[in-house]
Amino acid sequence: MIVELARGLWTTLRALIFEKKVTVQYPEEKKPVKQRFRGRHYLDRYENGLEKCIGCSLCAAACPSDAIFVESAENTDEARYSPGERYASTYEINMLRCIYCGFCEDACPTEAIKMGDNYELSFTDRRQAIYTKEMLLVPVPPGGKPTPQVTPPGVYTRSVPEMKDPVD
Ligand code: SF4
Ligand code: SF4
Repeated sequence: MIVELARGLWTTLRALIFEKKVTVQYPEEKKPVKQRFRGRHYLDRYENGLEKCIGCSLCAAACPSDAIFVESAENTDEARYSPGERYASTYEINMLRCIYCGFCEDACPTEAIKMGDNYELSFTDRRQAIYTKEMLLVPVPPGGKPTPQVTPPGVYTRSVPEMKDPVD
């Protein structure tokens, strides 16, 4: 009995003294997520500040939990939000419905909707779980201009840019 007790205590002591600690002091310390982790969505922009989202609703159609709502409107050269004819005038994701499957990301023809590494989502009210376009859209990159922009006629005629095949 004494031997078993000593053996058990030694197991605890050995872990305390010799083994590497795995406890992370969250939230001060955060472990990096895996490369393919799917966290909070964001809506991307081009380098010049134009929005990548063209309001096509393919993400909403692909979403299995009906979490995305998109309304689109017409771009003009005097008030341009995105390349091509249309932009998303309303874009909302209900995070209470989202199951983080990534189908929206896969369906998007312009790589506008992306899932980042932010997993710190908490709500105290159901309405707070509706993420609006303003919440999802990334800031204007350095050197870019906010939308809507005044653009020269005949330049941004193509909604979907030419893209390379993904590497991963
Ligand atoms: S991650 Fe999946 S469930 Fe969530 S919004 Fe995108 S398609 Fe819908
Ligand atoms: S995020 Fe992509 S798929 Fe969804 S409406 Fe915008 S452009 Fe279309």
